[in-house]
Parts: sequence; structure tokens; C-alpha cells
Amino acid sequence: MTIDPHRPVHVVFATPWEAVSRNRDTGEEDRTWWSFPDHVADGDTVITVVDAREPAIIDVSVLRMDSDDDWDLAPAGPHLFEAIAVAAIEKRVGFPFSIDPRTLHRTEGAAVLKAVDTESKSPTPWYDVANACSGADRMDTTREGRLWGCTACGKDWEGGFGPRYQQHVSAGWPFDAEDEPVVVCPSCHDILHQPLGPTFDELMFSHRPACPRCNARRTYKRLMGMPPGPPPYGTISGGCVVTGEDDRFLCGICDHGW
Ligand SMILES: [Zn+2]
Ligand SMILES: [Zn+2]
Ligand SMILES: [Zn+2]
Repeated sequence: MTIDPHRPVHVVFATPWEAVSRNRDTGEEDRTWWSFPDHVADGDTVITVVDAREPAIIDVSVLRMDSDDDWDLAPAGPHLFEAIAVAAIEKRVGFPFSIDPRTLHRTEGAAVLKAVDTESKSPTPWYDVANACSGADRMDTTREGRLWGCTACGKDWEGGFGPRYQQHVSAGWPFDAEDEPVVVCPSCHDILHQPLGPTFDELMFSHRPACPRCNARRTYKRLMGMPPGPPPYGTISGGCVVTGEDDRFLCGICDHGW
């Protein structure tokens, strides 16, 4: 399916974004809501947007429509392997692009489609667009990184070369009220800023062993002895008396320690 450059370009909002992105692969029952602007027609171009970790474009397609109830989106234009942050599109086109359902002005539509095409081939790094972590500076990342390694993947980089640690604005970003800055390696930081990427907890717990009793993946590290500083997010201080047989992990679901 190819886009007809003479047809109107619509911004169509889909929610919840988790269902949109999963349905595309698994074909599970569609529980997605789509919000179209008024006056759409068969053959029009549709830019599908979601409100994920941050507003993002997930697809460009052609609307196939027999009636108001019988429609489909046929993939068209560049195939987007990764969602494109709306902020990256705004930076390229030079005007604001909201995720409200609407029909774009002709020149706007052409500019956005061109920007999507360029982004699909050479994505703008997340740190080149304004976001919550730009200029975040609330802790000594070098010291924290040397002490604990990356809070998300736990890697402590023994040997001569380590990453230059970065501060991620909050373990709860962008959904939870939890506002605790965390120190991460550049690789984890990239993952955390993918528009459809994991939450901080999902990423951190995915790097830890599952609970041997309940199989949950919500494992906290336990730190025995006197820590050299406040333990990082996801690590619990276990007390000052080291017996040599203390549990190293604690399950956040069933409280099992091992
Ligand atoms: Zn990491
Ligand atoms: Zn960040
Ligand atoms: Zn458990």
C-alpha cells in the first residue's frame, strides 16, 4: 500500500498503547480504542499516535473504509520498527505536533510524513530532544556508579573501562509519583527512553533472578553489613551484623528470602 500524496493526512489517537503495540504482533483480541477526526474517507493517510512513556507515532497507514464500523488500516509508507517520539518529529518539522485527533493542513501533513520517513532511517537520539532528563543533575553520578554500578542492570564493570554513568530523572518516570533519581549506564538509559520501552521497575527486575518460591520477578537485593552510603533504589539494607549466611535477595511479592 502506498500513500497518495493528494489525500488528506489525519492524526488518529489509539489507546491503551500497550494493547496497540501488542496486538500488532500477537493478534490477540483487540481492546483498543481509536479516536478519528471527523470527515475521514477511504484512501486517506493515517498517522497513528499513542500516549506511551511519551507521546509517539507508531504507524503510518492508508485507511480502508467500507462504513463507519468496517474499517482497517493498511500499512503504508516507512515501516516503523520502533515508535518515533513526537518530540523528535517536532524538532525536525519546527512546529508543535500534538497527539489530538485532527486533520493536518496539507503542508503540515507533507512535512510530518517526510520527517517520519527520515526518522525511520536515522532516529534522533533521545538526548537530542527536550525531555525530563535533559540537564538532570541532582546527584554525584560518578560516585554512585562506582559504588553500586547501574541501578537498572546491576552491572558493576570490573576491569579498566566502565561507562560514564548518567542520571535518570526518577525511577517512577513518567507515570508514578515516586520521584527518586537513579544512576544508570548509557545502555539502560537508552532503553528507558524508548517511547514504548519498559518502566524502570520492569527493566531492573528483568535483570534479577525470579523468586524460587512464587516465581515472581520482583526481586530486591539485600545488602548486609554497613553500606558505604544509602543503598540505591531496589536494594534493601539488611542490617549491620554479617553472619555469612544471610539472604541476598528478597521477593517483593511473597517475602521469601534466599
Ligand atoms: Zn545498565
Ligand atoms: Zn532518563
Ligand atoms: Zn516470591
